[in-house]
Amino acid sequence: MHTREVMVIHHTDCALGRFSQAQLNEQITKASGHGFTEELDCFTDPIEAIAEDLGRLRACPYLSARDKVRGFIYDLTSNLVTEVPAGAKS
Ligand SMILES: [Zn+2]
Repeated sequence: MHTREVMVIHHTDCALGRFSQAQLNEQITKASGHGFTEELDCFTDPIEAIAEDLGRLRACPYLSARDKVRGFIYDLTSNLVTEVPAGAKS
């Protein structure tokens, strides 16, 4: 991979933050008619979820741009993308 820089962008009002894994399993199973059990990586704190993704990417041995990984959150209400500073905890 010739990746030189990575942007992780999450968004506000995400179903993965509003529902638990069990609730989503049930809703997707109901809507699709197929038993759904796949891990969706739900979260309760959106900023922490970004920090977690950044940590995973920075630890990835296959990624040469590990030092150029930045996180952002897209606010659906204001239509703005804001950078989440490295090591941010809310
Ligand atoms: Zn989402």
